Amino acid sequence: MTLRFDILTTFPEMFGQEAPAALGLSIPARARTAGVVEWHAHNIRDWAHNKHDRTDDRPFGGGPGMVMSCQPIWDAVHAVEALDSRPATRILLTPQGAPLNQRTAEDLARAPRLLLIAGHYEGVDERVIEALSPREISIGDYVLSGGELAALVLMDAVIRLLPGALGDDDSALQDSFGPLPTTDPNGEPVDPGLLARLLDEFGIAPDTRLLDCPHFTRPRVWEGREVPEVLLSGDHGAVLRWRLEQALARTKARRPDLL
Ligand code: SAH
Repeated sequence: MTLRFDILTTFPEMFGQEAPAALGLSIPARARTAGVVEWHAHNIRDWAHNKHDRTDDRPFGGGPGMVMSCQPIWDAVHAVEALDSRPATRILLTPQGAPLNQRTAEDLARAPRLLLIAGHYEGVDERVIEALSPREISIGDYVLSGGELAALVLMDAVIRLLPGALGDDDSALQDSFGPLPTTDPNGEPVDPGLLARLLDEFGIAPDTRLLDCPHFTRPRVWEGREVPEVLLSGDHGAVLRWRLEQALARTKARRPDLL
């Protein structure tokens, strides 16, 4: 199944499909070639039926900046939704939304179609937000110039989770915030009994999300610093144990809020 993104923006050129566009490289580009994702950026200006194709206007009540008008966004959403029979989950990128996290990305990766609305300037007229009632998502507690970079971040986080998006080289990734490992370093399923014992020993609930463990590659010794011995042992049970232990220690030290 292909996940379809539609992005409503006044800067559609930020959503190019080819390198060096942000999503035209690496995993997102491979996912698109493999047919697990497609995306279409639409210029809100194309639905601005006024003299200068304006998508914004001065704020009522005064003050600096401009506010994106209701009508072009409303018309754009309905016209774009009609381009495909799959129902779209509407998402407004806004610093006032629910913070994006890995669980949200996993949830969104199960949808057939996501329609992303990127604001600009001071933001979007509140009435069209109410009328469209989108899911409101923020990528963090800071303010960007526009929703485009937030949309790209959300897209990348979702695309890499799609089945078939990751190639052989990265399919065994155990990432921060992800579910606990179900395969060992060789891609073999982890013995559920062993995993259960380790979780019990470390006092971790099975649905805990941890930070990733540290990673090492060749050479074995670099500038006098050695790779942890256990990673060279070939003992998969011992490696799993060490990685879980490290992941837990890091999470305790850096992100106790996750535990
Ligand atoms: N005045 C607004 C901010 C507007 S910033 C406020 O204070 O809430 C302009 C646009 O950038 C927003 O409409 C939104 O689409 C996008 N944006 C800015 N920061 C963002 C963030 N942290 N997450 C997601 N989108 C963001």
